[in-house]
Amino acid sequence: DTIGDNLDRTVAAHGDRDALVDRSAGRRWTYRELAADVDALALGLLDLGITKGDRVGIWSPNRAEWTLTQYATAKIGAILVNINPAYRSHELRFVLNQSGVRLLIAAASFKTSDYAAMIDEVRPECAGLEHVVLLGGDAWTSLLDKGKQADRASLERARAELSADDPINIQYTSGTTGFPKGATLSHHNILNNGFFVGELCGYTEADRICIPVPFYHCFGMVMGNLAATSHGACMVIPAPAFDPKATLDAVQAERCTSLYGVPTMFIAELAEEGFDSYDLGSLRTGIMAGSPCPVEVMKQVIERMGMAEVAICYGMTETSPVSTQTRADDSVERRVSTVGRVGPHLEVKVVDPETGLTVPRGTPGELCTRGYSVMLGYWEQPDKTAEAIDAARWMHTGDLAIMDDDGYLNITGRIKDMVIRGGENLYPREIEEFLYTHPDILDAQVIGVPDTRYGEELMAWVRMREGAEPLTAESLREFCTGKLAHQKIPRYVHVVDDFPMTVTGKVRKVEMREAAITLLG
Ligand code: ATP
Ligand code: MG
Repeated sequence: DTIGDNLDRTVAAHGDRDALVDRSAGRRWTYRELAADVDALALGLLDLGITKGDRVGIWSPNRAEWTLTQYATAKIGAILVNINPAYRSHELRFVLNQSGVRLLIAAASFKTSDYAAMIDEVRPECAGLEHVVLLGGDAWTSLLDKGKQADRASLERARAELSADDPINIQYTSGTTGFPKGATLSHHNILNNGFFVGELCGYTEADRICIPVPFYHCFGMVMGNLAATSHGACMVIPAPAFDPKATLDAVQAERCTSLYGVPTMFIAELAEEGFDSYDLGSLRTGIMAGSPCPVEVMKQVIERMGMAEVAICYGMTETSPVSTQTRADDSVERRVSTVGRVGPHLEVKVVDPETGLTVPRGTPGELCTRGYSVMLGYWEQPDKTAEAIDAARWMHTGDLAIMDDDGYLNITGRIKDMVIRGGENLYPREIEEFLYTHPDILDAQVIGVPDTRYGEELMAWVRMREGAEPLTAESLREFCTGKLAHQKIPRYVHVVDDFPMTVTGKVRKVEMREAAITLLG
């Protein structure tokens, strides 16, 4: 099936059920209404001259039109290019040119972001960019109006040309470790991934999924939207950008059964004023992914948010994204200590990064994945593709993992974040987990900084709880001594209000390392 075929199937089966709720716009769609708007937009795009394989950029915070655009482009086989709403003109220009966007659909503005002005600024330097349509503007309305009047036969003709293996989506990676790369994904890649993620969450048409994670990222558009539409579940958009209060309000008002987030989002929701007065009784499940989840946060999500079946997923943009997931019947212990086991119809292995040979269970190594989910490649970057995907089609993730005897995986960090101090490999994750047990520490991140004696030394960046005394290197040493091996005790401590983050909510350790070098002079 293509994404369009799959949507049609859901519309036929669940046409009268809720499909989409956009809380800030105060609008909602049933599946039948959603299909009507998607088809109108698809016909409008055809009328504009957009056809199979053309790149259509979408640059907007979360709103219903994002979802409409996602399905309308899929219906005609245009390749959707997800553009990060936090980008500024420099990055916008890069992405538009790198992927050759012909039509850009964008929000006019949001908060301090004047998207329209940035588009005007880069437009003279983007030769391939023929059309710009601002959401909510006249061009958008006329696109839909034209589509509503158009002859449906042109849509049927366009759809007859599609194959499930066609590229349908270019998603740029988060840029946690460097410059983002454009993962090129097919209908088959992302539709199957969304479907299986939903299967393992036990979704049916009775589910209502609260999606505060950005659509421009696979977490929102695949694990959120595609998981929902392939099971007839409803997509609830709490706000254009993450807001803990709006998220809790949405769960309560829409009786959501599932809630998504990266760990930092759950931390913010749990810390929200008035948290205990919310009725979150409808919540059954959800997904936490993107970065490691501290044990303490997981426990609170289960106990205080009532998400008894919450799943941990591990994956990356390049693998559509999910590779491993915990199951609803996994013990809480497994859900706090692992990222689950391999998903249906996928393979994983852990190899020695030097030799490429599979390591014994229990030994750390680089995680590799293979199967339907592996991207077609990085858009127009064959060298980077060849570095990531080997001749046997294994995707080399760059993540360090340990597989236990039952096939459950534990992500121990990124190869790039591993600290080598005096010849010994240190895993920041393990030290961060320990720092979370400090009563005054709200959040902690550990990095390696250059050191003349040991090659690298450890530095902890910490966020203190309200009212707590700022931590010093001495007080941290005291806390760790006797509990952590001496070489794992961070030599430096830096207290901050916030960590540098990607918009997907990931800590940018690259930036921290750069800042640390300046700090240490
Ligand atoms: P870039 O590739 O541009 O540096 P990125 O790797 O952060 O950025 P994404 O594809 O969004 O871009 O994220 C995938 C990465 O997120 C994985 O490779 C892994 O490091 C991390 N990750 C995802 N899920 C988990 C998880 N459950 N636990 C720990 N880490 C995770
Ligand atoms: Mg990556």
